[in-house]
Amino acid sequence: MAYLNDNYLKLRAGYLFPEIARRVASFCDTNPDAAKRLIRCGIGDVTEPLPEAAIAAMHKAVDELAHRETFRGYGPEQGYDFLRKAIAQNDYRDRGIEVADDEIFVSDGSKCDCGNILDIFGHENEIAVMDPVYPVYVDTNVMAGHTGPANELGAFEGLVYLPCTPANGFVPEIPSQRVDIIYLCYPNNPTGATATREQLTKWVEYARQNEAIILYDAAYEAYISDPALPHSIFEIPGARDCAIEFRSFSKNGGFTGVRCAFTVVPKTLTARALNGESRPLHPLWSRRMSTKFNGVSYPVQRAAEALYTQEGSTQVRALIEYYMGNARILREACMEIGLEVYGGVNAPYIWVATPPGIGSWDMFDMMLEEANIVITPGSGFGGAGEGYFRISAFNSRANAEEAARRIRAMDL
Ligand SMILES: *Cc1c(COP(=O)(O)O)cnc(C)c1O
Repeated sequence: MAYLNDNYLKLRAGYLFPEIARRVASFCDTNPDAAKRLIRCGIGDVTEPLPEAAIAAMHKAVDELAHRETFRGYGPEQGYDFLRKAIAQNDYRDRGIEVADDEIFVSDGSKCDCGNILDIFGHENEIAVMDPVYPVYVDTNVMAGHTGPANELGAFEGLVYLPCTPANGFVPEIPSQRVDIIYLCYPNNPTGATATREQLTKWVEYARQNEAIILYDAAYEAYISDPALPHSIFEIPGARDCAIEFRSFSKNGGFTGVRCAFTVVPKTLTARALNGESRPLHPLWSRRMSTKFNGVSYPVQRAAEALYTQEGSTQVRALIEYYMGNARILREACMEIGLEVYGGVNAPYIWVATPPGIGSWDMFDMMLEEANIVITPGSGFGGAGEGYFRISAFNSRANAEEAARRIRAMDL
C-alpha cells in the first residue's frame, strides 16, 4: 500500500478561485444577457501582448536552434551567464546594490521559487506570513508539513499571521513571538501597498538580531513610481545577511505565459544546521536547482535579456504605464462613489474597503449583479482581508473605462 502526503488533505481545496468561478457561472446561467457584458477585474494575469524586443529576441534564438553550429541543448540549471549578468547589472549594480552574477538563479517562476525555497529550510522554523496573503506562501508550507489543520476561518495552526491593515499601512508590525522565516511582498498582492525604507529596515534589523530570514517577493517592483520607495530588499543595509529576493518577468514584461523569473540568494546568507553550525544557503539552492530543475529554455532567456535593452526597457515602461493608467481610472471611480481606497498607485492592485456592514462576498455578489464586474473578495486572501475587495488593473483600457463607468453608476 502506498501512502499519500496527508498534508495535502489539509489544504482548503483551492477555495477562492473555484468559488469565484462557481458564482460567476451560476450568475451567467441565469442572466445570459448580463453575461455578455461581464468584465473580469479579478485576475492577476496580464492582458497585453509581449514587448516587441522580447518577440524579436525569441525569434532570433529559435533560428539559432535550427542550425548545428548554434544549436543548444541542456543549459546551465542556474541560468545562462548572459541573463544572470544582465539582471545583476541592470536591476542591482546599476542601482548601487551589491549583487554578483552568480547570486542570480534564473527560474520558470516566482510562484515556483517561493514554494521550492522550502526545500533548503528545515522543518523546525517558526513561519510568519502577512494577512491578507498571496496564498502560495501558505499552501506550500502546508504541503511541506509545517502546519496543523486549518480552522473555520481558513487560518492554519502553526503559522504566525501578521495582520496588515490601514492602521499599519498594510506593512506588518514586528511580532511579539520569535519567528525564523518571514514572507514579505512589496509592492503587495493583494493590497497594492508598498513598504518604505524605514519599514523594511525594521524587519531587516529584526531578522539580523534573531538570525531570521526574510523571503522577499518583489514581483511588482517595476510598478513603483515613487522614487523614495525601495525596489529591492537589498537596498536595506544588512539585508545580504538575512534575505532572499524573488523577482519575475511575469508582471513587467508580461511573461506570465512565457515563464521566466529569478531568485537572488546572497553568498553571505547563512542558516543553522541541526548541529548548530552556521552554513551558507547559496550552495544548497544551487544544488537544488541542479538536481530538480533543467533551467529555463534558451529562447525565453534571450527574450528576458532583451527586456534590459534600451528598446526593451522602453517597451516595458509603456506596458506598465498602460496598466497603471487603468489603475488610476478604476481607483478614481471607487473614490468618487465614496469608497475607501488603498493601493493602485505603485502597484496594479486596488484594495477597496466594502461599505459598512457589507462583507467581502456580499460585495462580490453586488458587483457581479449590479455592475457585471468580477472582483476578488478580500477574505479569500486571509481573515484580515474580510471587509475588502481587490480590483486588478490588468485589463484592456476599454474594459477599465467601462468598469469605471459602471462603478460610478452603482448605488451603494
Ligand atoms: C504574479 C506574482 C508572482 C509571479 O509569479 P510567476 O510564477 O513568476 O508568474 C509572484 N508573487 C506574487 C505575489 C504574484 O502576484
